[in-house]
Amino acid sequence: AKVYLNGEIVTSENATISVFDRGFLFGDGIYEVMVQLENGIFYKKAHLDRLQENLVKIGIEYQVSELEKEIEPLLIASELVDQPCLIYMQVTRGVAPRKHSYPKGIPATAMMYALPFQLPYINQKNMHAILQTDFRWHRCDIKSISLLGNIMSNEAAMLAGTGEAALVRDGIITEGSHTNIFFVKDDTVITHPANEHILDGITRKILVKLCQELNIPLVERGISVEEIPTMEEAFFTGTSTQIASIAQLDNHTFHAPDDFGPITRKLQDALASLKEIDTSE
Ligand code: PLP
Repeated sequence: AKVYLNGEIVTSENATISVFDRGFLFGDGIYEVMVQLENGIFYKKAHLDRLQENLVKIGIEYQVSELEKEIEPLLIASELVDQPCLIYMQVTRGVAPRKHSYPKGIPATAMMYALPFQLPYINQKNMHAILQTDFRWHRCDIKSISLLGNIMSNEAAMLAGTGEAALVRDGIITEGSHTNIFFVKDDTVITHPANEHILDGITRKILVKLCQELNIPLVERGISVEEIPTMEEAFFTGTSTQIASIAQLDNHTFHAPDDFGPITRKLQDALASLKEIDTSE
């Protein structure tokens, strides 16, 4: 694979960073994941804007426009122009002797690669998920490369033979290990507010808009574990997940393996049809 690293496109074997890179030592950095579909990179601007906002949040001085202008050359070098692929970007604070406080003005480390990727079958169904304590920190709005809490929760889901973990903080379901979560009750879509306890997913933002356009009422509030059996539908969203209908969450079954909730289905179809328009700007 080809990798963009600090101004150059090189083969992955030659893409090396210092062991003193603060991303390596501290997880001191921000990342972004985008997918390229038939009509370009899906909501590219929203992803690049989020990357820039997150860098500002943690005080890394780096202009995302630098990475943006390298996307095309990287896709050419990777032979992925107009091909379905996943684009990963990460910016870390840079190289400095290991110390919690950091020197100001050191150059950030910017890295990006693109790999072939097929979106999962668009109308994903039969997702099973477990509940896991959300023991992450209180700034889950930051798209930090430090993902230990997410990894541990996701691994627990895999070991339980399920596809995802729904995270529970103080009795309230916040999000998945790498997805946002939505519920449906009485024809109303419900999702956790975009505060410091979740990552405000781009797919989540798109769904909020789609609900408006389809006149489906949407409420932003956290659902408690006790409320799960009273919910009619549930689904996870994410860039590489799209919309995955949850058949079973913890002990509660929402629907049969080959079925979908009607509102989930409607939103899946609406999201799929967006792929026919240009969403890359
Ligand atoms: N929540 C978490 C913790 C994530 O890691 C992700 C994606 O990586 C999401 C939600 C979904 O975000 P997006 O729709 O922007 O991919």
